[in-house]
Amino acid sequence: MEDDQDLLTVCFRCGSSQPLLRKDADKEVESCETCLHPFIRCMLNFNILPLIEFQPCESLSEKETLGLIQKVGDNEGDDSVFHDAINMTLTEADKGYSPVEVDGEVLESFGRAEVYAVREEQSGRLRYYKNMIPDIGIAICHSCCQFFHEEDFESQFLKEGGCPFCKSSTLENVSTEQSSKYRCRLNLHAIPIPCLIILKFLSTIVRACLDDEGITAPG
Ligand SMILES: [Zn+2]
Ligand SMILES: [Zn+2]
Repeated sequence: MEDDQDLLTVCFRCGSSQPLLRKDADKEVESCETCLHPFIRCMLNFNILPLIEFQPCESLSEKETLGLIQKVGDNEGDDSVFHDAINMTLTEADKGYSPVEVDGEVLESFGRAEVYAVREEQSGRLRYYKNMIPDIGIAICHSCCQFFHEEDFESQFLKEGGCPFCKSSTLENVSTEQSSKYRCRLNLHAIPIPCLIILKFLSTIVRACLDDEGITAPG
């Protein structure tokens, strides 16, 4: 029996269809069978989110990287340079998984709201993700760093008064408009542990909460 094409999962990085019966079902990290890119699922509906992990090339510091992402470039919204970088990475897929390596030109091509960065608790380094389908809103919880479809997260957050995964109701430092403030926080190393989400912060949640005082100031 062949897999029903409609039910197949497709990897956003290499485009290959994934079999329903997975060989790596017992592996800790679920990843693409072809290019090994880890899948990131919405923690509410468990659908795979269109996120691709990337890393800046070695010559770029964290500060330079964030500056380039936040800079509004001429070609913002044009993914062609990122696709070139993805193809370059895929040619080396036989060496094992590594995030898509990008240079300054690629970073400048990103729309700020399409990029997510999560600080790893253990290594302290930032892991970066690009939303390949910006029309699909993606939210990330400030406390547990889990990703969600934005609409689902928003409705659950408002219903339960907190993140549906970790129950945190913390919304501080949450704004797409406060990136300059955030940059200061980064420079001062005043980064909350375990991790801090940057560049796109649940903006719709904040707006929704500001519109409703009952939720802004629980208790
Ligand atoms: Zn793949
Ligand atoms: Zn959470």
